[in-house]
Formats: sequence, structure tokens, C-alpha cells
Amino acid sequence: MIDSPLLPHLDAYIDGRWTQPASGKTFKVINPATGDHLADVAALAREEVIAAIEAAKKALRTPSSFEQRHAWLTGIAKALREHREEIGRILCLEHGKTWKEGAGEADYAAGFFAYCAEHLDLLKPRTLDEKPRGCTWTVQYRPAGVVGLIVPWNFPIGMIAKKLSAAIAADCASIVKPASKTPLTMLALFTILDRIVKLPAGRANLVMGSAGMIGDTLLSHPDVAVVSFTGSTEVGRELIEKSAPQVKRLTLELGGNAPFIVFEDADLDHAADQLMLSKFRGNGQTCVCANRVLVQRQVADAFVDKVVERVKKLKLGNGMEPDTDIGPLVDRAGYEKVRQHVEDAVAKGAKLLVGGGAKPLDTEWGGFHPPTVVRGLTRDMLCWREETFGPLAPVGEFETEAQVIEMANDTEFGLAAYVFTRDEARAQRVIAGLQFQHIGWNTGSGPTPEAPFGGMKQSGFGREGGAEGIYEFAEAQTIPRGA
Ligand code: NAP
Repeated sequence: MIDSPLLPHLDAYIDGRWTQPASGKTFKVINPATGDHLADVAALAREEVIAAIEAAKKALRTPSSFEQRHAWLTGIAKALREHREEIGRILCLEHGKTWKEGAGEADYAAGFFAYCAEHLDLLKPRTLDEKPRGCTWTVQYRPAGVVGLIVPWNFPIGMIAKKLSAAIAADCASIVKPASKTPLTMLALFTILDRIVKLPAGRANLVMGSAGMIGDTLLSHPDVAVVSFTGSTEVGRELIEKSAPQVKRLTLELGGNAPFIVFEDADLDHAADQLMLSKFRGNGQTCVCANRVLVQRQVADAFVDKVVERVKKLKLGNGMEPDTDIGPLVDRAGYEKVRQHVEDAVAKGAKLLVGGGAKPLDTEWGGFHPPTVVRGLTRDMLCWREETFGPLAPVGEFETEAQVIEMANDTEFGLAAYVFTRDEARAQRVIAGLQFQHIGWNTGSGPTPEAPFGGMKQSGFGREGGAEGIYEFAEAQTIPRGA
């Protein structure tokens, strides 16, 4: 069992109190690297989720000043930085990513709270210079109200930071639902909110248990104004359908299928280094991970050699060991999906260059899949169409700019893409042709607190980060005032 000063409670947090479910029901949290049973965490019933919504509604009766919000946001950022090592350790134990990466994710999360603290002015009323029809026009940014925040397991602290920071900035009250595989990092965050930041009762509530029930309760409750969801496109579609009866406002950050494009004039060593960062971060389990590597024919041999050389050096193991580069997949389904994608690619003619050979898993938890590179990626392969969400880099080839733009866009997803070329005019043409929201040019860098991030096409709608991310939780109210 896990022991941590940040985990004095494994219960829900409702109306400023740690709350045990009346049913006494719990669910297990397992370490994907070892199969160790880490904790039994509270699973709520519908009435208890409704109690959380009512607590949030009550909290909104006392609006907070900009100064107060600034203090909360900077307090959370400071506490996350101070506790980065312990948060990183909890994250490593329940997710499997390395401890170092987990601590880095705590820093990343802190950045969103700090950004929102520094940009509260975005929410101050503004008066329009023009006075159409003789009125003075003022725009007031009102809190959207009670908001439901549902997050996945792949960035247990990073994803909630994007949503909760903006919700606090806009003076909303939140109902937070972590992924069932990674509730412990969220419990650690709530310990910080409760003990260190002392957020008023009802401002942030933590609910855990059946995802379907919690999602349905948030979407069907008239007092929930916004549901902000990060997760799979499959669940996102379900939420869209269920949001219709109440015309509920949604923000959906969904799946990706990122092309990583390398032109013949690129700095190949730099591109290979960036591919390693993009592809193997979180063991390939990120929505912005390079999913399809597309290399211009004349440099394909040279580029592939550089990637294989780097992949051979990666050390697979328990993320608690200091020299581990890559941990386990989060569960059996995740492991089997990668194994299936590798086998499917090889069966359809791809050449295995490094890795592969994974055996079927006989446990439900984790599974260490070797980092794998295959060459000869084609459109009929599963790893072309689907997000592999694991350590497989499939490499395909192209001849012309027009061809690679068409190949890259051949997916229903539109989240992240990467382009490597030293030719500025070419980069501008290609980026303009790509139907992806986040496009790294000569970098594999992912999102940052300062910039809007989100999906095009079936990767969702709404933005997180930047001014756009804050406005997702505000209602712009317009007041024309006559003479
Ligand atoms: P998921 O299965 O869709 O789950 C995400 C969250 O939704 C979890 O908290 C889950 O709870 C909950 N959930 C599941 N079914 C639900 C329902 N019917 N109603 C309401 N909530 C429900 O996704 P995942 O496997 O955790 O995450 C991986 C996916 O997230 C990938 O597709 C990845 O690309 C995407 N992602 C996107 C972004 C982005 O910014 N666009 C960022 C990160 C990840 P339980 O855990 O209890 O099932």
C-alpha cells in the first residue's frame, strides 16, 4: 500500500470535507510496473455526486475578488513546485511514467496556475470604444457557474491543472472526476487545496467512482453549466449526445494521430532527437505523441538509422529506478493494443528494425512493451488509422510536399503535427495545408500554459491554455447602457 504525506485521505472531497461514501464502496489502484495494490479509493453513489454539485452551487453565492483568486492560484502553483518530488513519486507509482517525468509534470501543472494568476486582467470588464446607437457598451466576464472537469490517466496532474486553473480564474466552482487508474495524484492535489491553499468549501469538489454515472449526473443536472472533458474520442461522442437535452456547454479534448514529417533539408540529428522526445514521452501514451513518422525518400535511410540507434539505448523498466527511460504501459489493454499494432504492421509488410517480439500479457496490470521501430508504414495498417498510444514508431516515406500534406491529413483526428525543414517558405506552405491545431516546426514540443491548445476535426473543440482557455469558463455578458 502507498504511504505518502500527501495522501492522508482516500475519500471523496465534498463541501470542504473528506467524505466517505455511505455504501462503503471502494475501487483498487494498482501499480502498473509491479502489480502492487497501492490503495482502495472511495467510489461514490449518484446522490453523493449530486451533493457535490449542490455544494458547488452554494459556494458560488460568495463571489471571490481578483485578489483572492490571485492568491489561490499562486498558492497552488507554489505548493505544486514545493511538492514536485512527492507528486512525481505518486504519479510514477500509479501511472508507470518515470519519477523524473512525474516531477516534471508537477512543474508543468504549476505553470498553468501561475499563468492564470498573471492573466486575471483578461476577465476584467471592458468598455467598447465605439458607442453604437448612442449607448455605452460594457462586456463583463461572469463565471460560467458550476463546472464538471473530467480527466484521463495519461497526465493525472497536468490535465486537471489546465482546467482547474482556468475555472478558478473565472470564479467557477468545480466538480473534479479523475481517471480510475490514477486517482492518487488527484487526491494529493486536493490535500494541497484543503491544507495549504485552504480553498473555501465547495469551490473544488472531488468525486470518484463509476465514470458513466458521474458523467450522466453532470450532464443531466440543470445546475452544471459546463462539462470540460479530456479523453478518448469515443467517450467524447457519447458526451455530445448526452449533452443535447440540456444544451450543455462542452469542451472536448480528444484523441490524436500526429504525423511527424521530415523533409530532405531537415537537420536529421535534431529531428531524431525531437522524435525521441515526442514519441516516447509517457511511454508513448500522450495525445500529442508522434503516431506516424513520414520521411522524404532521399533521407529515409539516414533518418531511420539515427532513430534506431537512439531507440536501442532506451532502458525499459520500473520508473522508480533512476536510469529508467521508459516504464510499463498503463494496463493490459494498452499493452495489447501496441502489440497488435506491431504484429499488424509486420504482417502487412513493414520491416521490424528494433523492438517487437512482445508476448501476450497474462496479467491485467501494466506490461513492458519494448520501444519499437518499423519501416514501411502504409495506409492499410492499424497504426496509420488509430492512435497506438504506446512505444511504436512506424516510419513511412513520401516524395513531394503535396503528397505528404495529403497523407498527414488522412485521419479523422486533428490535434498535433510536426514538420522538420530548414526552408521557411516550405514550412509555411505545409503548415497552412495541415488540418491540425498544434504544429511543431523543427520541434517536438507539446502544449504550454501560454498558448491555446485543442483539437480540430474529431480531436474535439474548445481550447486549454492561453486567454482562450480561460474564456472557456466565463460567460461574456454584454451591457449596452443608454443615456
Ligand atoms: P477515456 O477512457 O475516454 O477516459 C477519460 C476520462 O473519462 C476518465 O476519467 C474516465 O473515467 C472518464 N469516462 C469514461 N467513460 C465515461 C463516460 N461514459 N462518461 C463520462 N466520463 C467517462 O480516455 P483515457 O483512456 O483515460 O485517455 C486516453 C485518451 O485521452 C486518448 O485518446 C488521448 O488521446 C486522449 N487525450 C487527449 C488529450 C487532449 O488534450 N486532446 C490529452 C490527453 C489525453 P474512468 O477512468 O473511471 O473510466
